[in-house]
Amino acid sequence: MDQVDIVIIGAGIVGLAAAYELALRWPDKSILLLEQAAAFGRGLSGRTSEVIHSGAYYPPGSLKARLCVSGNKLLYEFCRREQVPHRRLGKLIIARDDDDLKKLESLLAQAAANGVPEAGLINVSQLVALEPGINARAAILCPSSGIVDSHRLMAMLAYRAEACGAMLVYRHEVTGLQQAPNGGFQVTFQDAAGTEESIGCQCLINAAGLGADRIAAMAGIDIDETGYRIYRCKGEYFAVNNRKAKLVTRLVFPVSIRELKGSGIPVIKDLQGRMRLGPDAHYASSASADYTVQPANARLFFQLVQGYLPFLQPDDLQPDLAALRPRLQTPCGSPPRDFLVKHEVDRGLTGLVNLIGIESPGITCCLSLAQYVGDLLEPVAGKCHLPGRG
Ligand SMILES: Cc1cc2nc3c(=O)[nH]c(=O)nc-3n(C[C@H](O)[C@H](O)[C@H](O)COP(=O)(O)OP(=O)(O)OC[C@H]3O[C@@H](n4cnc5c(N)ncnc54)[C@H](O)[C@@H]3O)c2cc1C
Repeated sequence: MDQVDIVIIGAGIVGLAAAYELALRWPDKSILLLEQAAAFGRGLSGRTSEVIHSGAYYPPGSLKARLCVSGNKLLYEFCRREQVPHRRLGKLIIARDDDDLKKLESLLAQAAANGVPEAGLINVSQLVALEPGINARAAILCPSSGIVDSHRLMAMLAYRAEACGAMLVYRHEVTGLQQAPNGGFQVTFQDAAGTEESIGCQCLINAAGLGADRIAAMAGIDIDETGYRIYRCKGEYFAVNNRKAKLVTRLVFPVSIRELKGSGIPVIKDLQGRMRLGPDAHYASSASADYTVQPANARLFFQLVQGYLPFLQPDDLQPDLAALRPRLQTPCGSPPRDFLVKHEVDRGLTGLVNLIGIESPGITCCLSLAQYVGDLLEPVAGKCHLPGRG
């Protein structure tokens, strides 16, 4: 095979969802997904909070806000239909002081502007009735937030994508890109044995997570001039002693979380009822692949959460996992950035869609992102067709 219609780079949740969506949308197109690791979900998508977010935290009109609200609905529908384990357990966004109460009001207005369903303010007695273990003055209850088994979700997306005809190939690292003389791209990749090959395609989807800026650079894009450079931002989690885990039953997010420059740490529940605290956020070096959790940080986590989780003791926390976010905002305080999802027509790269900086809420948005990519490529993919499929 030396030519396909569509190549997707990356078998994280976004690449898998794109393979599924596009194979479903264009049954006559040949789709090849190339992944450098030995299996799907070995990048960002395997190290998350597994939260189905409601969409309250993102600025109105942003891709994050729009795709989170629509993605939340699509994801629940998919999980119900395909029997992917999930639970709509709801999230409490809590306020602890006067400053937080003001932020809570503007967050509620933002949630309404974003179209987050059923989000509402609850007072302290309602909060105590729902979560007696939490110490806060008020909260927004977001019933549409939940949790999902993200590994089973990825497994189902991979299965459905293949059942619809997409080819998923592991241990193949993309090492080069060139524009083909007659339009489209020539994609060079290396297999596990180091053998180099290449394949032509009309459309190319860059869903390479932490490696997405490198792929864009291979396509000739200056990642500094365009603001496409990724900065790695580490997040650590600590697991809470199982005896205390049942003292909280919902997701609990302080109104200003560290992820967005605040001081609060989220309280995450999983489908087994375990409780984790995290992630925090601090920039790492550009090549960092450091996934260690520093046991000494347990004390800092404890200090940050003890005000709203009064039942915790410092020795209830054990190091859990760490992850690296693909941040677009620079470490030196530039404003938060939206997802970058772009069909690069105006750079003369028709057929290339870059997905860069797909940090949280990328799990929630996987299906809406995939639909968005399909819509961007509709004018090009509608035209290309190769014999041999369909
Ligand atoms: C700490 C943390 C917690 C999070 N929690 C949540 C949450 O609770 N809810 C939520 O909605 N979102 C969450 N997110 C966001 C979510 O994890 C990401 O948005 C999502 O996983 C991104 O998926 P992806 O497919 O773009 O990237 P990835 O999962 O990283 O996939 C990219 C793939 O591309 C492959 N690749 C890279 N370069 C190449 C190459 N040259 N050739 C071939 N393959 C290549 C990689 O090996 C990788 O498998 C969280 C993120 C972090 C960091």
